[in-house]
Amino acid sequence: MAASPYAYFQRRIVPLAEAKIGIMTHAFNYGTAVFEGIRGNWNQGQQQLYLFRPQDHFERLHRSARVCRINLAYTVDQMMKLTLEVAERSQYREDVYMRPLAYKSAEKVGVRLHGIEDDFLIFITPFGPYLDVTKGIRCCVSSWRRIDDNSIPARAKVTGGYINSALAKSEAVEDGYDEAIMLTQEGHVSEGSGENIFLVMNGKLVTPPSSDNILIGITREAVMTLAREELGIATVERTLDRSELFTCDEVFLTGTAAHVTSVAEIDRRPVGGRQGIGPITAKLQQLYFETIRGDNPKYRHWLVPVYAAVAQKK
Ligand code: PMP
Repeated sequence: MAASPYAYFQRRIVPLAEAKIGIMTHAFNYGTAVFEGIRGNWNQGQQQLYLFRPQDHFERLHRSARVCRINLAYTVDQMMKLTLEVAERSQYREDVYMRPLAYKSAEKVGVRLHGIEDDFLIFITPFGPYLDVTKGIRCCVSSWRRIDDNSIPARAKVTGGYINSALAKSEAVEDGYDEAIMLTQEGHVSEGSGENIFLVMNGKLVTPPSSDNILIGITREAVMTLAREELGIATVERTLDRSELFTCDEVFLTGTAAHVTSVAEIDRRPVGGRQGIGPITAKLQQLYFETIRGDNPKYRHWLVPVYAAVAQKK
């Protein structure tokens, strides 16, 4: 059966091409939506599509919705079932990206959060590599500062907040870099435009704490677990100075889209003074990729198979 995308929209599963919103939709006008990105990773040998930690994404979606006063009237289990149904109907046999989104759906003018009806949708799209994971990428420290918790809370994945990421990403790419690293208002390292950041220092991982205006990444947590359990490497969560980007041994970015991406250069300084991917980053990449593709039985509990899960239920 040929693959074709479906969506869950207005309480029905429909072909993606039929899922359209009106131009007065509140979320479209004011950025009043919260969302997630969940990868489905295709395992050719097993003929299986594995969703990576979808429950954790739905729990984060609930937390984001609470911040934005969006009434997300679906439990984690209900969202899980609908996501599997959309994925199964779409029949992709390649890497995909699934986007659950809770949004202010009323066609009403007026900037506010209260008294505006909400809805929930899911769509799927094929999705290959986002950044080059085979070699280190080139980053700059952005001239744009990360949105502050007292402006648009970064811990909530709010569509409107992504104008901050888009400003930083376009500046970086149009200036010849691959990705932007943003600082907090105080000038400390925060995160990439769509990724968390880790530094390797003296054999340990160091990453900015949740209070430095980051989205608390699910890949970030997975990498911290893999480093601790498989390599005996601890992660320190602490505020990082900008200049530590230039003095540390290795830097990598983590995210659903970015996976584990090595950073080779920041502001024209080779990271760790070396060429190529650093040894700890390389080990974590290998562990992470075998885990997300379903080739590491120890972390099988992080994965939800699309095809078997649906077949078992029938
Ligand atoms: N920070 C930002 C700003 C992001 O958009 C993302 C991607 N969701 C991340 C970090 C990484 O989060 P995760 O590992 O949960 O995808």
